[in-house]
Amino acid sequence: MHPDIDRVLHTETEIQARIATVAKEISARFGSEPLTVIGVLNGAVVFVADLIRHIDAPLELAFVSASSYRDGTTSGRLELDFLPAPGAIEGRRILLVDDILDTGRTMASLRTELLERGAREVHGCVLLDKPSRRVVDIDVDFVGFSIEDAFVVGYGLDYAGLYRNLPYIGVLRAELASTTSA
Ligand code: 5GP
Ligand code: MG
Ligand code: MG
Repeated sequence: MHPDIDRVLHTETEIQARIATVAKEISARFGSEPLTVIGVLNGAVVFVADLIRHIDAPLELAFVSASSYRDGTTSGRLELDFLPAPGAIEGRRILLVDDILDTGRTMASLRTELLERGAREVHGCVLLDKPSRRVVDIDVDFVGFSIEDAFVVGYGLDYAGLYRNLPYIGVLRAELASTTSA
């Protein structure tokens, strides 16, 4: 285990097994109708890459950049930046994929923005959910794991840009994370 990690919440094996199950639920729900999967950069890159390989439905992959945790763990103002995805939003059924649902602001803003841009349906999928931290009332359709209120890294999630490459989800040692969360 990485020396900056206090404890592992979900191992690589657990994550992979859970993703296969969630992808099966997604395939069952969306069947043969084309789907646009939009990953939220950068945190969801690892998750979305593994997830789509288990989804059995015709899909396109696009990305949006949404950053609120600019310097560490403090929640700031949300900035959205859609990468060009011509024809992939208007009239489409969208699966919005993020690493973690915390206050819910990111998913709520993105859902509103996508509907404004003409998306027909917007469904949410997150690897992790911290229900105790919710500020905005939002439901996502697919959740990997519900977790306690702790700052986690690994499997795409960063602290100040680092730890995304860890294959597991771990809690960062408290003395390293300045968790003045909004
Ligand atoms: P929300 O808008 O729901 O408050 O926050 C969602 C975003 O905050 C996630 O996409 C992620 O970038 C970041 N975030 C929230 N909680 C954590 C956490 O425990 N660890 C890390 N690394 N990022 C988090
Ligand atoms: Mg994020
Ligand atoms: Mg981050």
